[in-house]
Amino acid sequence: MEQKRLRQKLQTSKEFIIIAELTGGPGYDFGPIEKFLSAYKKAGPSSIPAGFDFVGITLPQNPGGVANIDPSDVLAVVHQKDLLGDLDVIPHISCKDNNSDSLTSTLVGYRQRGVESVLALTGDKPITAQGVFEVESVGLLSKIQKLNNDALIKAKPGQLDKVKVFFAGTAVSPFKYTEPSLMQQYYKMEKKIAAGAEFLITQVGWDWKKSVELMQYLKDNRIDIPVIGNVYWLTTLTPAPRLMHDIKLPGCFVSDALLAKLKSETTADHIERAAQQVAMYKSIGAAGIDLGGVHQFDVFVKILQRAAEIGDGWERYKDNLCWPAEKTFYLYGDSGKRAELSRPKKWFNERFFDFAHRAILDPKYPGFWAFRKCLQWVRADRPRCWTYKTFNAIEKGFKYLAFECQECGDCYLPENFGYCTIGGCEKGLDNVPCGDATVTGYCGNNLDRLCVGEKTYHSASTQAGGRELLRRTLNKPRIPALEHTSSIVNYLFGRDHTMKRPLIEIGEAIHASIPKTGAIMRELQALGADAYNKPSGPLKYIRALIESQAEDGASYMAVNLDAFGELDSQVSVEMMKHYTRLVRKWGKGVPICFDSSNDEVLKAGLKEWYNTDEPVKTPLMNSIKVYTADKMMPLKKEYDFSFIGLR
Ligand code: SF4
Repeated sequence: MEQKRLRQKLQTSKEFIIIAELTGGPGYDFGPIEKFLSAYKKAGPSSIPAGFDFVGITLPQNPGGVANIDPSDVLAVVHQKDLLGDLDVIPHISCKDNNSDSLTSTLVGYRQRGVESVLALTGDKPITAQGVFEVESVGLLSKIQKLNNDALIKAKPGQLDKVKVFFAGTAVSPFKYTEPSLMQQYYKMEKKIAAGAEFLITQVGWDWKKSVELMQYLKDNRIDIPVIGNVYWLTTLTPAPRLMHDIKLPGCFVSDALLAKLKSETTADHIERAAQQVAMYKSIGAAGIDLGGVHQFDVFVKILQRAAEIGDGWERYKDNLCWPAEKTFYLYGDSGKRAELSRPKKWFNERFFDFAHRAILDPKYPGFWAFRKCLQWVRADRPRCWTYKTFNAIEKGFKYLAFECQECGDCYLPENFGYCTIGGCEKGLDNVPCGDATVTGYCGNNLDRLCVGEKTYHSASTQAGGRELLRRTLNKPRIPALEHTSSIVNYLFGRDHTMKRPLIEIGEAIHASIPKTGAIMRELQALGADAYNKPSGPLKYIRALIESQAEDGASYMAVNLDAFGELDSQVSVEMMKHYTRLVRKWGKGVPICFDSSNDEVLKAGLKEWYNTDEPVKTPLMNSIKVYTADKMMPLKKEYDFSFIGLR
């Protein structure tokens, strides 16, 4: 029996995709998973109603922060007992229990065992153990992207379709009811997509308006990514509704009204609501659903059968799918018009941070240079010197009081608009928020604390362009070796993540004269009109080159296609437009360097670079010759660029 693959189904299937979320029972019991899969095996694929394609199972990793059977062990057992049939397996990988290296080992192990799709998550805060969170979902996705890119770059031309690469998905929660929580969820979703997420699974939630809102946001922002709606069978047969209502499962929200309604209903009514939700997701344009909380295969089938009956008529049941918080913020009104976002005033602590930063830590102001000189003069830049130790001790005390600093030594206060997301967050995340905030914006893991995601959003909203900056800033994992050292000294003397490279580095990997790259570029070009949009091995290779050069810190990314223009220069003109779009799309903000001896190619690339509504950095022209300067330099009136001149 051929094994189904989520990636292939999401890219090609016309049917609505179904995946089942299965967890072990209490006491590390494999029984519920075995029962479900055995029942499916017995019933066969024909038991799934027409229009639905049951593709695979997802396996949460220690859900709710409670130890359970690890997905890799579930995978081993289902293979051993031959329970899978045609189903794909999509394990969750979360950052709560593993450090960065251990996550890499887990991924490599999964790749060896043929796992292709994974769900990359920050993870729930462990209940009885210490959470790790050395990286969070953005860092984990970047790690997966790097593993994929390394594998592709090593492959030979003609073999690229056979390279084993992960298809990574991630979570998004549209079920947030404060403006900061909701917008931060969307911003974080976009950061996760930029870090490599290729599909989305929503958090559980019972408010159809929020599900529709997510689809609208993606459409408005031209984000083309498959969405899998999370449908959880909410039934009073289990403690789940009460736990969600009592904020014992952070990030999941059941209102007073919904809990009361559930208590007054029968199990059949609970099945009916889940079916209505499946039909709703199908009608609003989701690619599929992830059906959780159902370990009885007959209930699973009943939900799908009833959803098939409802078809596109889900709107009749809107009231039964709308259980919002008391105070709500929706990004889109009933007419579909986007709401105005707030323009708050700075809080005192935010003003203080801005003032202190400008006074001594911003190189645009003289205080930075004076402070730096002073520390150098007293030798406080030397870690063995007593003046350094004294300064470090004072810094620690002050920053703890002012920012809840945890001495990571690689400070991201400026990127986080004056808030520490290590000490200020219950999980200590590089990129906040997680999805655990309550409907009022408080941390679901500590109800006395406003989620730090709300605070960074507030601070960003007080600055012109601040929200856009917040939306586009992806914080890298902190440098572990700097822990407990002075972050101010590290920053002033260029030892932390802000470290500047002494030279401008131009990535030269996309060059048609490099034999292997040139061969793959030719393979790609030969795929025809759709080559630069349609997934293919050669396109994945080019993407890997672009992303890996950006990750390696290239200042510019050169594209040289002159080898294609030897016979027909128009070919390299057209190709330069395609490659310019690819660098803009996957280059993580690194500007392009047009490298050509043909001025028409340079011009075509330059025009295409600016052919977007998105902000782009100034590109570099390599090169402008003395004898063509008259033709090229007037272009600067329309399009800004730096250039390398040749005499
Ligand atoms: S403070 Fe916010 S980001 Fe941190 S754990 Fe709590 S809800 Fe998540």
